[in-house]
Amino acid sequence: MSSQRVLIIGAGVIGLTHAVTAREAGHSVTILERDGRALGASIRNFGTLWPIGCAFGPERDQALFGVKRWKQIAAAAGIWHSAKGSLSLAYREEAWSVLNEFGAANGDFELLEAQEVVRRYPAANPQGLRGALFSQEETVIHSPTAIPALADYARQLGVAIHYGTPVVKVHADSVDTADGRTFAFDHLVIAAGEEMRLFFPEELTAAQIQPCRLQMMRTVPQRAGFDLGAIFVSDLTLCHYPAFRGCPSTAKLRTRLEAELPDHHRWGVHVIAAQHHDGTLTLGDSHEYGLDLPPGSQPEVDELILGALLDFAIIPDLRIASRWQGIYLKSKIGQTQVVLHPCEHVTMVTAMGGLGMTLSWGLAQRTIQSWNS
Ligand SMILES: Cc1cc2nc3c(=O)[nH]c(=O)nc-3n(C[C@H](O)[C@H](O)[C@H](O)COP(=O)(O)OP(=O)(O)OC[C@H]3O[C@@H](n4cnc5c(N)ncnc54)[C@H](O)[C@@H]3O)c2cc1C
Repeated sequence: MSSQRVLIIGAGVIGLTHAVTAREAGHSVTILERDGRALGASIRNFGTLWPIGCAFGPERDQALFGVKRWKQIAAAAGIWHSAKGSLSLAYREEAWSVLNEFGAANGDFELLEAQEVVRRYPAANPQGLRGALFSQEETVIHSPTAIPALADYARQLGVAIHYGTPVVKVHADSVDTADGRTFAFDHLVIAAGEEMRLFFPEELTAAQIQPCRLQMMRTVPQRAGFDLGAIFVSDLTLCHYPAFRGCPSTAKLRTRLEAELPDHHRWGVHVIAAQHHDGTLTLGDSHEYGLDLPPGSQPEVDELILGALLDFAIIPDLRIASRWQGIYLKSKIGQTQVVLHPCEHVTMVTAMGGLGMTLSWGLAQRTIQSWNS
């Protein structure tokens, strides 16, 4: 296909991965970003590339492709990443059953007895530990620095990025920006994160997508030599991602957790701990849904997250250096990514929920390939 003019709204991870992929395919690419730099979900997340959260089949393949692409770009652009895998720790009998069922049904995972877990991962809390599942694919990047580095990389490839340039109107073959300029396109990709509803709101409503707000924290740097050794999660997380839904014991685990931890259930709390190059730990999260959420963070939610963390991890220094909220759009009907074509030559990419860092390279490839057909 000949070179086309590709216009992208939004310089978050979805906009940038589409830009790099389109540029690599030989297109002329321009990104229009409302803010002075990307400030949305893409710099507010854990930075975990998370195939273990994805359903087996095409979605896991897409996630593995995402990890591979991030590693390639990280090598080319000097982006820090840590490929030490993930450790899912089980404390309740039902959680241990889920991990055994999951490990038996799928290759590539290592089931570890409690003693072995503690030997390999001194930061794992041994109190009540049944065992753990190690998965080698999961990788951590540091989103607040990785996203600007990805933008620089896109620019080096020849992508034009206009920051401080909100798009206010979409026409059939051009968009208007707030400063009165018009940008023409052959293909438009709308990757406006939580603001997708500004464009084609009826199509978005019909697709049953809702905003979800999450609370997050980052600790101070841990003492020199402290190494979590992998991304840590535990019982609560096994009920959160699609990958474990097929395990017979997941429903039993969910019932038990909802009875034992009603406040965690109410706030949608499950806990991920990811360590970064500066020794800090990124911790979260919670899930609140709707268009009318009160603005403040809930201190009790942070306490629930920290309490649940200590059930599975021994952290030398739990002083919190920063707290923030992130918002993403999520499908009400369980889709992990939604692609809409509200009119010819316009693609809206949204609702990647908590997996956008992981899945967006694969989605970008699909979008750009679809223009050939
Ligand atoms: C707390 C949290 C934790 C997460 N953890 C993970 C994780 O560990 N792993 C993972 O894979 N995923 C994770 N995710 C999900 C992932 O971060 C998102 O799916 C992804 O960042 C969405 O990317 P995006 O580009 O659509 O959105 P955004 O990053 O929000 O980017 C959208 C951009 O569009 C711009 N924009 C909006 N309106 C306009 C306009 N009118 N004109 C121009 N520009 C506009 C915005 O300014 C913004 O920069 C997490 C998300 C959150 C919130």
